[in-house]
Amino acid sequence: MLSRFISLVLIATLAVPAFARVQPTTGFDLYSHEDELQVGKEAALEMNRGLPLLPDSSPVSRYVSDLGKKLASHAPGEPWPYAFHVVNQKEINAFALPGGTIYINLGTIQAADSEAELAGVLAHEIAHVVQRHGTRAASKEMAAEVPLALLAGILGKSTAAQATALGISFGVGSYFLKNSRQSESEADLLGTDIMYDAGYDPHALAEFFAKLEDQAGGHGSELDQFFSDHPDPGNRVEAVNQEAATLASKVYALNSPEFLSVKQTVAGMKPMTAEQIALWQKKHGKPDSAN
Ligand code: ZN
Repeated sequence: MLSRFISLVLIATLAVPAFARVQPTTGFDLYSHEDELQVGKEAALEMNRGLPLLPDSSPVSRYVSDLGKKLASHAPGEPWPYAFHVVNQKEINAFALPGGTIYINLGTIQAADSEAELAGVLAHEIAHVVQRHGTRAASKEMAAEVPLALLAGILGKSTAAQATALGISFGVGSYFLKNSRQSESEADLLGTDIMYDAGYDPHALAEFFAKLEDQAGGHGSELDQFFSDHPDPGNRVEAVNQEAATLASKVYALNSPEFLSVKQTVAGMKPMTAEQIALWQKKHGKPDSAN
């Protein structure tokens, strides 16, 4: 009787772990850690030249960088050199390059009603980096283009250099920003855990997505790029809330004085529209990676 009781308890314990945390996914990836750092650095240089960024010294950039680094300190996996930049763009969007450079549009900060919502967007991007979604997507494309015999030779060497030698044109980043619905779902779930670990209410990510979905229903065009870079896996609001429900409730961080001050600053700013940026890029040059 006692042993039966013990085995029942054991089964119950195994079936419902107290803390079922999201594990970062891995997958087919031709890029070594060093490759990824290298291509990420090249793509970031290109983006920094080809996008209208707020200076890193501006109070808004400094705040985003501090918040991003606080979240990244709770990211599982390899320690990528995370860096955060604010694009002076009105449309809501954010994206991550391999190796940890993350960009967020000023319009996203204007649209965030709480620090937790903003933390959610950054945590989602960090989760893309952790799970190496950029280089995994590029690897998949390469595997489709390159004969297997050649791929076998590439493996274990500097992939990016070898690929270039083979004349494979995959402009830095033409695949890095194309997230699949599967990657999106993974970034949502891991992002939920990262923001929770950093002290923010994870339901705020669901609230932010719900807000975007409402807006997209009205006038879609301003959110087209967001949903193209981060395609809706289908039930993302529900999925984030479900993941949040598995986390023990605790006292969450409120809006910091820095967030409130930055919100005041950005309320008075007029970021460029996508159209204005396209004109600006005609003069400055457009990054290959931007679609
Ligand atoms: Zn995404």
